[in-house]
Amino acid sequence: MVIEVEVKGVKVYYKSIKALDGVTLSVKNGEILSIVGPNGAGKSTLLKVINGVLRPKIGTVYVDQKSLSDISPREIAKRIGLVPQKIQLTGMLTVYDFVMTGRRPYIDFTPSKRDEEKVYEALETVGAINLADRSLEELSGGELQRVIIARALAVEPEVLLLDEPTNSLDLKYQVEIQKIVKSLRSKGLIIIMAIHDLTYAYRISDKILMLNNGRVFAAGKPEEVLTPKNILAVYGVKPLIITEYKIVAPAET
Ligand code: ADP
Repeated sequence: MVIEVEVKGVKVYYKSIKALDGVTLSVKNGEILSIVGPNGAGKSTLLKVINGVLRPKIGTVYVDQKSLSDISPREIAKRIGLVPQKIQLTGMLTVYDFVMTGRRPYIDFTPSKRDEEKVYEALETVGAINLADRSLEELSGGELQRVIIARALAVEPEVLLLDEPTNSLDLKYQVEIQKIVKSLRSKGLIIIMAIHDLTYAYRISDKILMLNNGRVFAAGKPEEVLTPKNILAVYGVKPLIITEYKIVAPAET
């Protein structure tokens, strides 16, 4: 079944600041869309709009052809999982308890057997079952990021939003997160990421939306959007583009 997220003509103003100025996009399940653009371009604001946290006065977000404004907040929380840039670490929460907070939209009183199963399933998906009893505060940056993704997956979303998922992670963890995100795409999720790292965006995305000053500067396949001309126009820097390289193991002596 094809599910689609569509954003049509969305405008968001913070007082006199135009954060989004007529943004339109569409992304289907099994696709990764990356939103790129310099600081202040509107990436986080766009994620908040798709997540239903910000309700634009102008323009509409559709999930599966239904306007977000016609879907209850609880239903939105079940359908759209968010991986925020930062989380507040409060108290000595275990990984299990933290991921269980992702089940909130389903829990009325106490977690059910199914809630427990979904928490373990989410931890399994990100390869973090072994962390279940650990305290969040003890985790490394890469482990914590996997656990935050697990919390978003525990909600069983159709759409996964990630805000700078590889920020401050070293190369090894970046590759790990890339693998997880790709495996989620093959499971049929719609994946939308705000991302700074253009190389990463190029490698992982099916589509890229390049924002500049709240407007869509370019949209399409990575090779169509991440051109030297567009990067220079939006970021003001000339990129060095390496399209192909090989790492050759040194000959044994
Ligand atoms: P990005 O994520 O691409 O860095 P943002 O969506 O955070 O961009 O910001 C877009 C614009 O909106 C910026 O000019 C930013 O300063 C402004 N902005 C974002 N959030 C707020 C807010 N809560 N109040 C006022 N201005 C904001």
